[in-house]
Amino acid sequence: MAYYVSMDMVTRKSLLYRTGIGGAGAYAATHVVGCSHGCRFPCYAFLLMQRFGKVASYEEWCQPRLVANALQLAQKELPRLCGKAGSVHLSFATDAFMYMHPEVVTLTLQLIRLINSYDIPVHTLTKGAIPEEALQLSHENQFGITLVSVDEDFRKRYEPGTAPYPARIAGLRRAHDLGFHCFVNMEPYPTPNIWQQDVLRVLEAVDFVDEIRLGQLNYNDVVKQYPGWRAFYRQTGVIARDWCGVRGIQYDGIEARPSPRRKRPADSDPGDLFSA
Ligand code: SF4
Repeated sequence: MAYYVSMDMVTRKSLLYRTGIGGAGAYAATHVVGCSHGCRFPCYAFLLMQRFGKVASYEEWCQPRLVANALQLAQKELPRLCGKAGSVHLSFATDAFMYMHPEVVTLTLQLIRLINSYDIPVHTLTKGAIPEEALQLSHENQFGITLVSVDEDFRKRYEPGTAPYPARIAGLRRAHDLGFHCFVNMEPYPTPNIWQQDVLRVLEAVDFVDEIRLGQLNYNDVVKQYPGWRAFYRQTGVIARDWCGVRGIQYDGIEARPSPRRKRPADSDPGDLFSA
């Protein structure tokens, strides 16, 4: 199997931007345009990029391009964030540890080292595999995976370019074993007319983590074709919340208590996923 795919490059004018997700002082960066994971839920970042004409097709989205000047931009922008930034999230619009893309992983590691050198922790989220090198860095960093199923047939159909679930979970478990704060995004969770499964199987696969967030599938009309889809999500939220509660795992998302409903911002220019 081919492991190395040479990637095209783009340049950007800025990299780090403030984000409303993650509390005060939360920043994010997108150092790659596109994502070979090619999620078919569909991917919200892809929808935005396509709507605003930044990406012509799904096929183009799946051919990621590195931001060639990402490190230079970070070097320029980070001094201004000292004392202001509580964390930097990598990334809301691509995958920090994109599977089978060592160029992405290398750039992510370089960025983490650089950001950490300003005493700013990094939170990564991936559907790839967390590399061992990332686990040698600051223990202030946090690691997360997205996991909405443990059924490989689901993964092959809806997340075709991602790491197999055992590899994805093993990377997070290793981070946990080394003492890192670990979280799981169970989002976008499918309704049963999309995939029949027991949410407990998914939860039990990550019973070692510190935080779990459950979120529904948006931007897919099939969800609303499931009779009682709202009730389904409520019930699933209660199961996940109670399951987490018993185990002392922090829970957020559907039916979390107390649950100030997070307002989803109106669609905006995809530039928002990259920089302010
Ligand atoms: S891993 Fe994330 S950014 Fe990549 S295609 Fe899937 S949803 Fe989109």
